[in-house]
This record gives sequence, C-alpha cells and structure tokens, in this order.
Amino acid sequence: MSEPQLHRSWILDRQPIATNVNSYVIEKPAGFTFHPGQAVELAIDQPDWLNEKRPFTMTSLPDNPRLEFIIKSYPVAENPGHDGMTEHLGNDIQIGDHVSFGDAWGAIEYRGPGLFIAGGAGITPFVAILRQLEQQNKLHGNRLFFSNRTVDEVILRDELTRMLGDEAVLTLTQEQHDQYEHGRIDRNWIENRVTNFDQPFYLCGPPKMVEDLSDVLKSLGANTDSLVFEK
Ligand SMILES: Cc1cc2nc3c(=O)[nH]c(=O)nc-3n(C[C@H](O)[C@H](O)[C@H](O)COP(=O)(O)OP(=O)(O)OC[C@H]3O[C@@H](n4cnc5c(N)ncnc54)[C@H](O)[C@@H]3O)c2cc1C
Repeated sequence: MSEPQLHRSWILDRQPIATNVNSYVIEKPAGFTFHPGQAVELAIDQPDWLNEKRPFTMTSLPDNPRLEFIIKSYPVAENPGHDGMTEHLGNDIQIGDHVSFGDAWGAIEYRGPGLFIAGGAGITPFVAILRQLEQQNKLHGNRLFFSNRTVDEVILRDELTRMLGDEAVLTLTQEQHDQYEHGRIDRNWIENRVTNFDQPFYLCGPPKMVEDLSDVLKSLGANTDSLVFEK
C-alpha cells in the first residue's frame, strides 16, 4: 500500500449556492485520486487553522482537472457546538488562499440503483455519485429523498430535479412551499413511499438522522448490508 500523502492546493473560485453554503473550486493536485462519494480531511493552510481538519466531500468527478467542494458554514454565534472552521472558510477565505488535505477516504460508494436519502449538507457525496451516473447515462432506477429545514438551505435543487425528475422528492421541515413536500423523513414517510426494501439505501446527513433512518429501514425489512453510510 502506498504511503499517505498530504496534498496542497489553492482556491480558484468560490460561489454562494445556498444560505451559508458555498461551492469552492480548487486545483487538483498531481497524484490525487478518489471515487465519487469519498471525502478528505481538509484544513485551511494558515498557521492558526492548519490543525483544524474537517471532512468534506468532493462533488466534482474524478476526471475533472479541478476539485469542487460544497461546504456549509456554521456561524458560531448560532451554532454553539461549532468552533469556527467553516465560518472562517465561508467568511474570510479568498481566491488564491491555500488548503491542504489528506488522501480520499470513505465508505459511501455506488452499489447499484437504489434510494438516496440526504439531510442538508449530507447531499454532497450523492451529488458526486449522481453526476457520475448522469455522465454514464445510468441514472435510471435511482431515487432521492432530500430533507432541508427551509427552501433557502436547499443545495442544487435545479440540478437534482433535472437529473432525477419526479424521482427527486424534496421536503422542507420548517416551511411550507409549493415546490416541496412538507415534513420530516421518518418511519411514516418511508412507509408511505417505499415498497421495495431489497435495494441499496444510501444515507447521509446529520448523524442522528442517519442512525434513526438506518433503524427504520432495517425494521421495515432492509438488510444491514444494503445500507450505505459513513460509519
Ligand atoms: C465523511 C463526511 C463528509 C462530509 N462532507 C461534507 C461536505 O462536503 N460539505 C459539508 O458542508 N459538510 C460535510 N460534512 C458534514 C455533515 O454532512 C453535515 O454537517 C451534516 O449533514 C449536517 O447538515 P445540516 O446542518 O445541513 O443539517 P440540518 O439542516 O440540521 O438538517 C437537514 C435536514 O435533516 C432533518 N433531520 C435532522 N435530524 C433528523 C432525524 N433524526 N430524522 C429525520 N430527519 C432529520 C432536518 O429536519 C432537516 O430537514 C461531512 C461529514 C462527514 C462525516
């Protein structure tokens, strides 16, 4: 096995794409490889921030000469559990600033047509997987349930609905909106919409959501091996 690498790169572009969410484009370092769904431990390459590594998922495709990340920033004042790394990234980081990260890792990978269930920023690994399936013309048979609190927080709605059409089911938990369903993805939600439990279930979102929905899916007949999530 090859030695773990530390990769260094710099920000080429950043664009706001939802409330407190930016996309960042960085140059892909030579020798860096990954498969869609994988993440890296990324740090801002500045003396005070170099030790503050956080996992973020590549949303670009492996054959793209650049890497894209979509990162939600948590203002510390509103999110006492957070310590400022994503806030610094969102507020202060400029084009040209450097970042460093390790090799790609992660358990989320495509295992065939199934149901993707995402909460908030947990959509990122599925963006990469769905983009690759679209490139390969293999989206058919896949479905997405995507939960957000408010419409302003929804990441890449247009792209996801363009790719999946009616198979993209988006729901808001804290707002009513005519282009979205309303309500939390829970046991009742799943029972009303899913009949086939013999398929892969891809889960990513707040840890409690992943834990709760894993239990729900298993109790409804899904095999433990069919659940794909970051452990
Ligand atoms: C390997 C890895 C890679 C990561 N990659 C990225 C990345 O690329 N970009 C990034 O920004 N972050 C990333 N993260 C961080 C992580 O995915 C998010 O911080 C997390 O998903 C919280 O997102 P949120 O604040 O948007 O969710 P929230 O807005 O708090 O919740 C989203 C939705 O889920 C619903 N929900 C919450 N709990 C439950 C529950 N128990 N049952 C049902 N529904 C529930 C909410 O009601 C809401 O509708 C990564 C983390 C790991 C471990």
